[in-house]
Amino acid sequence: MAVKHELEDVEGVGPATAEKLREAGITSVEALAVTPTRTLTEIAELTEEKASVITQNARALLNIRFTTAKDVLSKRANIGFVTTGTKAIDNLLGRGIETQAITELIGEYGSGKTQICHELCVTVQLPVEQGGLGARALFIDTEGTFRPERIMNIAKNFGLDPDTILGNIIYARAYNSDHQMLLADEAANLVVPNNVRLLVVDSVITHLRSEYPGREALAPRQQKLNKHLHQLLRMSDIYNMAVVVTNQIQSTPDTFFGNPNKPAGGNILAHGTTYRIWLRKSKESRRIARIIDSPMHPESECLFAITTDGIIDVEETK
Ligand code: ATP
Ligand code: MG
Repeated sequence: MAVKHELEDVEGVGPATAEKLREAGITSVEALAVTPTRTLTEIAELTEEKASVITQNARALLNIRFTTAKDVLSKRANIGFVTTGTKAIDNLLGRGIETQAITELIGEYGSGKTQICHELCVTVQLPVEQGGLGARALFIDTEGTFRPERIMNIAKNFGLDPDTILGNIIYARAYNSDHQMLLADEAANLVVPNNVRLLVVDSVITHLRSEYPGREALAPRQQKLNKHLHQLLRMSDIYNMAVVVTNQIQSTPDTFFGNPNKPAGGNILAHGTTYRIWLRKSKESRRIARIIDSPMHPESECLFAITTDGIIDVEETK
């Protein structure tokens, strides 16, 4: 049986430090163990030395050092899945969107990124037998495109009570990239008390792209993006939750060969996310989803459609 530790159980963490950590959103030994020293010095105002000592002690307390492949496998056995509402995209991913991972939806405008995010906010609430996790969703909206009306349509399609479903989606509008990161930090405190198992950030890149334009700003932008993604990845891991972020396409006119369009965010996003799904428009309501860069799935694609009822398999549209 795992013993539940409090922050004060970590050697070097007295009541004052514990208080600072809690105020900074680090409320558990697990969170402390995986927070980078630099972040601790910034958010909890600790000296670098102190931060380094207490993270090491937190890791020692939890026995986080090397582990065996068997332990990795048993942790992976706890992975949960959230259905996308379509068999096609679920199969593409294996069993749907995974917890303990960041899934990135990439695509041009109108390709269906936000629609899939809406769908997942409903399906995560379904019981496990129906492809959900019987849990709540948290939606960080950077573009102001979240629509409760869409949620209500999707809920009705599943025969669920729209009011209840809406009440189980925690929503925040992020007005700039600092605010977005702050909200992600605050989200960590809402996860356990509210049984949140899905965190959506739609989109992860918009504010960063507009606040840090041009090549000169690329380095600080990427640094910030890296920090944000690690923050999200840590949450997905600690709380066994699914994190879904959306990303845009940027065109690179200087490309001579191959596709001149590529996902924004460069290598940081490519390496920071676990699964990447590239969405393209097809005829009318039809869309194509392609899985790229997955650690365990072959590159393949499928069709789906966007309807008033949400995301559906294409056979159903005939
Ligand atoms: P952006 O980059 O602009 O955020 P996106 O990929 O998030 O784009 P979505 O908002 O997911 O795009 O998809 C928009 C598309 O969804 C619309 O073009 C429309 O075809 C479809 N759509 C939206 N609402 C409905 C609805 N109520 N019924 C049917 N289709 C809809
Ligand atoms: Mg959108």
